[in-house]
Amino acid sequence: MIDAGDKEVYQCFARDITERKRFQEERLHSQKIEAIGQVADGIAHDFRNALTAISGYNALGQDLLPEHHPALESLKRIDQVIGQANGLIKGLLTFSRRQETEQQSVELHQLVENSSDLFRRILPATITLEIDVASVQNFQVSADVTQLQQVLLNLMINARDAMPDGGTLRISLSPAPADRGDGSDTAGWVRIEVSDTGVGMPPEVQAHIFEPFFTTKPDEYGTGLGLAMVHSIVSQHGGRVEVRSTVGQGSTFTVLLPPATLDSIPDDAISSRNWKSGAGEMILLAEDHRYVREIMAATLRHVGYEVVQAEDGLALLDRYQAHRDHLRLLIADLDLPGCSGLDGLRQLRARGARLPAILITGTDSRDLSDQLDMETLLLRKPFQMATLARLVYSLLHQEARVDDQTHLDRPG
Ligand code: ADP
Ligand code: MG
Repeated sequence: MIDAGDKEVYQCFARDITERKRFQEERLHSQKIEAIGQVADGIAHDFRNALTAISGYNALGQDLLPEHHPALESLKRIDQVIGQANGLIKGLLTFSRRQETEQQSVELHQLVENSSDLFRRILPATITLEIDVASVQNFQVSADVTQLQQVLLNLMINARDAMPDGGTLRISLSPAPADRGDGSDTAGWVRIEVSDTGVGMPPEVQAHIFEPFFTTKPDEYGTGLGLAMVHSIVSQHGGRVEVRSTVGQGSTFTVLLPPATLDSIPDDAISSRNWKSGAGEMILLAEDHRYVREIMAATLRHVGYEVVQAEDGLALLDRYQAHRDHLRLLIADLDLPGCSGLDGLRQLRARGARLPAILITGTDSRDLSDQLDMETLLLRKPFQMATLARLVYSLLHQEARVDDQTHLDRPG
């Protein structure tokens, strides 16, 4: 208030802070995402250990039961729930910056089903959405979830735009045909088809649709970037995208994706008969998480090995010394207390230990491939016990064919 004799005068200052508020909101949003990411990072390690143990005991239980035991059905359900829990933790991890560009193993039919609400929301009532993912259950791809959603979304929006008067939009998953007549080998791949009953495209349009900025839509609608993006994402995932279209009848976009690597193959896809049997070879197992260690030991014993356990880095060195003449293989967690699995292994190697080794890591982002020697493989958590058993067998028999499996990092 300013005193102006007998009058009271008020001065007001106003400033438009819309921009500032928007900026604050954006910052808040990214801070929230970052917080979720940090929490996810924090719990992911322990959570994965727990899941590894649960899935291990579950697999062992299934293997111990006779083939048609009524309890098997329930145990298989547990597998599914474990899969979901894994998905959850992976979903959370997409918020952590570390994971942003990382590919993770994604269950395709779940991805499509989870996105279907979103899809319905962007479609007008005149368009019927059909989703058929039933024929491909449990198919996993190594993928960036957000990018893969982006692919589906772009194809959907294009299909919607092609049906201004309504029609049917169909998304389906099916196994890719092995031989597609062009010499390419797509056996074991999956096929995602997005088809519409819209306007279709003449060949001269089809020839350009994947080019950036190519659009037939009015300025305010088309950017011409949708399919260019689809193309580059699918290529990054090692896949292919194709189109078939007839003017006046509609279009079908086909995305072909290769399967995920070995670590994400669900247990029930590997029959228990494939768990190769050991011949009493002695394995040193160093893992600090008790349940994980015990289920690994139980599994290895179950398939015929003798197991010596160590709970930290020092015990690892100690047990090695005690059993060095009989040990055939070393399995060690990277994050052992006392002395990390990698340091422990180095010390053993320095003492002349030539036995093959498997190092286990719960962290996705670390690249250790240049620090490992030829006798050492890296296995990422969570892994299936069947994977472990197969890996052990192949290492002991030196028939490890792992060059093309990205979860197993091997130098050279
Ligand atoms: P935009 O949608 O911004 O035009 P896109 O790269 O997504 O860019 O698509 C490029 C062009 O491909 C479209 O403008 C359209 O001519 C054609 N097109 C894409 N999908 C379809 C479809 N399902 N039906 C008919 N034409 C399509
Ligand atoms: Mg588009």
